[in-house]
Amino acid sequence: MSDCIFCKILAGEIPCKKVYEDEDVLAFHDIHPLAQVHFMLIPKKHVESLAHCESVDQAILGKMLLLAPKLAKEQGLENGFRTMINTGRGGGQEVFHLHVHVFGGEKLPHM
Ligand code: C5P
Repeated sequence: MSDCIFCKILAGEIPCKKVYEDEDVLAFHDIHPLAQVHFMLIPKKHVESLAHCESVDQAILGKMLLLAPKLAKEQGLENGFRTMINTGRGGGQEVFHLHVHVFGGEKLPHM
C-alpha cells in the first residue's frame, strides 16, 4: 500500500527503532511512547485492521501474539505488560495497518 505509513517503514522509506524482524513481522518502538516501554508488532503483509483479518491471517496473528511476551521480556518487562489492538476509527485506530501495541515499564492503571 503506497500511502500506508507502516508499509513505508517496512520498505525502509521511513526510519524506525527496530525491536525485532523476521520474514513475517516487524516490531519497533512507537515514536510517541505512551509508557516507559511502548513498541508495536506489525505484519509485513498489509492488513488494514483486526476486522479485516481472515482465516488465512490466523498464523500471523498467532505469531504476533506469541512474540509479544518474548519481546516484552527482552525489553525488560519482567513484571508484565499490556497489549492493545485499536480497530477502526471507533476503536481509536489512526494507522490503518494492523498493529499490536505493547506497553510496560511501570504499573499501568487498571482499565
Ligand atoms: O493504534 P493507533 O493506530 O492509534 O496507533 C498508531 C501508532 O503508530 C501511534 O501510537 C503512533 O505514535 C505510531 N506511529 C509510529 N511511527 C510512525 C507513525 C505512527 O510509531 N511513523
